[in-house]
Amino acid sequence: MAGLEDAPDPVAAPPYCRAGVVGYGGPMSRFSFLGWPVVRQIGSGDPLGRGEAVTSPKTRGIMPRTSTADRVVQSVCPYCAVGCGQRVFVKDERVIQIEGDPDSPISRGRLCPKGSASEQLVNAPGRQTKVLYRAPHAKDWQQLDLDTAIEMVADRFLEARRNNWQQNDEQGRPLRRTMGIAGLGGATLDNEENYLIKKLFTAAGAIQLENQARI
Ligand code: SF4
Repeated sequence: MAGLEDAPDPVAAPPYCRAGVVGYGGPMSRFSFLGWPVVRQIGSGDPLGRGEAVTSPKTRGIMPRTSTADRVVQSVCPYCAVGCGQRVFVKDERVIQIEGDPDSPISRGRLCPKGSASEQLVNAPGRQTKVLYRAPHAKDWQQLDLDTAIEMVADRFLEARRNNWQQNDEQGRPLRRTMGIAGLGGATLDNEENYLIKKLFTAAGAIQLENQARI
């Protein structure tokens, strides 16, 4: 059976009220008068209790993630065609945080929730970082190095162009085009990438070019 010594102390203040009953004085006082909030406020030069007097040690120990970065790189949000400016904070050659770039004339430091969460795109554990290839009729994927994959894409591009080249139409009018290649760009492509893709495809004779932002 629990003794009296085990009973809760009726005088003890809960953790959120360290001043306890000290304000009433007398023999029941168990806590330092110096712990009383108004004393802390006046003593710390924070009479309104909006700063130092009400800052807990835990809050005082908090620091922004960005403060430990080795360097900051300016970039553009990869998600949509608005192209908001980003600041990418890097530590030990790893992205640790991405925030809006106040220097961007487009977004002036702002990011929508998707852009604000783009650090998760970079560091997601399920992110695919290797080229995977599944051969025709194969059940399994195989890893390819990037050079091999680009060679395979180039070979297929040239073959499709060659096999589907149209020099003239039925009346003999010049076409000089291929309908065997089509391009569909995504919103993550920036202006310069879209420019280069359009130049490349048009020079190759492809005329079916679109971008997800337009459809
Ligand atoms: S932050 Fe949002 S609005 Fe801006 S580019 Fe990224 S996805 Fe688009």
